Amino acid sequence: MLVSDILKSKGSAVVTAPPSMPVADAARLLAEKRIGSILILERNKVAGILSERDIVRALANEGAGCLDGPVSRLMTAKVVTCTPAQTIADVMQMMTTGRFRHVPVVDNGKVAGMISIGDVVKWRLEEAQEEVRQMAAYVAGT
Ligand code: AMP
Repeated sequence: MLVSDILKSKGSAVVTAPPSMPVADAARLLAEKRIGSILILERNKVAGILSERDIVRALANEGAGCLDGPVSRLMTAKVVTCTPAQTIADVMQMMTTGRFRHVPVVDNGKVAGMISIGDVVKWRLEEAQEEVRQMAAYVAGT
């Protein structure tokens, strides 16, 4: 299965914010949208990614004062991305190696979607169920 197949069913909407957005606003956005990360864009280009984990870590290290600063202070600037033509297995490998749960999809320089670990788990579950179905059919000789 390809990244583009997942985007066909989940769509290409990505929650984004500028680097100057205050961390408190970004936290509210994460809560409102019920998501775990926000893609940070500057002039339509990926400038970073801010995860709920970045906020929790800063709260633990610095206290609530970190909420007043811009997201650019807490975001990860070196973002690992994928293309629509890559496989979900590739994305799963990226997440495992990089220890993160979100991979933005970029197509010819344009943001085309976001794959989360939830999407990957759903795909893997469906694949495993299909394998079980095929094995059962094989054993039954049908
Ligand atoms: P996550 O598990 O996705 O909530 O993120 C864990 C950490 O990895 C946070 O510090 C994020 O800023 C960072 N991160 C999340 N996604 C990516 C990505 N695609 N590329 C690089 N860093 C990321």
